[in-house]
Amino acid sequence: MKYRVRLDLSFDNEDDALALMDYARGLSGRAVSINEGRSNEELSFCEIELCRHDEGLPCTRMDRLEVRKLR
Ligand SMILES: [Zn+2]
Repeated sequence: MKYRVRLDLSFDNEDDALALMDYARGLSGRAVSINEGRSNEELSFCEIELCRHDEGLPCTRMDRLEVRKLR
């Protein structure tokens, strides 16, 4: 059993988004991915995007952190 948090927050201010990303990155060392490397894998990750869907344009990924213990 795990305690899992899912969130998707969009901000007007880049600093707020970066602060949340930094906070998540700090905790990610204690996070685990579920069934890593198997067909039913559920990776722990956090991702920051430049979202332009409010302008009718696509998102662009700026950074993605994945929690992987296997090499
Ligand atoms: Zn978007």
